[in-house]
Amino acid sequence: MADHSTEFQTATRLTHAGRKGKRHHGPVNPPLVRASTMLFPDCASLQEAYGTRRVYGRHGNETTHALEQALCAAEGAAACLLTPSGLSAITTTLLALLKSGDHLLMTDSAYDPTRHFCDNMLKQMGVETAYYDPLAGADIAALIKPNTKVIFVESPGSLTFEVQDIPAIAAAAHAAGAVVVSDSTWATPVGWKSFELGVDVSIHAATKYIVGHSDALMGAILTNAALEAPIRDTYKQLGLAIGGDDAALALRGLRTMAARLAVHRESAMRVAEWLAAQPEVAEVLYPPMPGAQGHEIWKRDFDPKYACGLMGARFHDDICRQQVAALIDSTDLFGIGFSWGGYESLLLPTDPSRVRNHRAAQWTAPMIRLHVGLECVEDLISDLQQGFDALREQARLARAA
Ligand SMILES: *Cc1c(COP(=O)(O)O)cnc(C)c1O
Repeated sequence: MADHSTEFQTATRLTHAGRKGKRHHGPVNPPLVRASTMLFPDCASLQEAYGTRRVYGRHGNETTHALEQALCAAEGAAACLLTPSGLSAITTTLLALLKSGDHLLMTDSAYDPTRHFCDNMLKQMGVETAYYDPLAGADIAALIKPNTKVIFVESPGSLTFEVQDIPAIAAAAHAAGAVVVSDSTWATPVGWKSFELGVDVSIHAATKYIVGHSDALMGAILTNAALEAPIRDTYKQLGLAIGGDDAALALRGLRTMAARLAVHRESAMRVAEWLAAQPEVAEVLYPPMPGAQGHEIWKRDFDPKYACGLMGARFHDDICRQQVAALIDSTDLFGIGFSWGGYESLLLPTDPSRVRNHRAAQWTAPMIRLHVGLECVEDLISDLQQGFDALREQARLARAA
């Protein structure tokens, strides 16, 4: 099979990766395989198959392997392991790379369940986690201890959207013999060249843009060649596997991801600019928007064509949570719910100060997180206008009372 990892542009790679190329005739897509037991014609064939790691359903099948190959080609990874959720991709990787007595530097902007795992299971195992300011950059060198094995990054963070200086952090990590593990869900496999920037393991909640239609949960661990063996071994010991049906959904999503991201990005920029013009909004947290926090590093490190549709907005201190609830409850098109990366728009109240060790005071004002979906952006902006009208009405009633 042709290796589409380098010679074509992103959208082309996503369309062709993990398929058999021009010589393949028959259905366009790989077969959907549902399998536990695999049968062999005789003992000699069974013996031969032991070497291939493909003798049982848990070792994957034609459908899951096609998805693994496509994801490797999309991001330029040496290997891919698929897990039942984004969170299990994170926990599996940390379990593989850390042992009792080790030290982990975790970004303070990390996804909350990642923190929960560090503060509970890793702690019980004797792994110490220190949370660092996501804006640390090269200064992170001062936090590295002789037993620091992993520096975990998440850029931008999915609630506060700080853009981290990954090359500076990776240089400090590698100089000290530590590895960089990234929760790259916001970036997606095509939004940045993670491995060229210095990331060693790039993790995705494939649940988001890869699946892309809010109908399956999945995680992907994309690793460089050096770390494949320990991660694969832990994956195997934990007994992880995904089903063919979910792999087929993810593969189907991946094919259109570049086209979808282009629309998410266009619409998100329009929504971000509209939000920034509302007097109640103190700050829009969308790094692709010129002037936004982190925009300069984002411009340096990310592919501007494939930004995603997730952003935050922080209100002025005089806006209360009740007013924000009125806004959210009064929209018709924005669903209220967790996760993101599907075709639909979402809106949530957020409170990052709850889960921060550094600069918690920066995040005490009411905030919202928006996922800008594939609806017509004019409809989305009218819907938000309706929400802001409700917020203003709520404020007027409060003043009158
Ligand atoms: C959603 C998400 C996860 C977890 O993914 P699941 O598939 O829901 O387990 C991890 N990291 C980030 C940044 C996420 O947004």
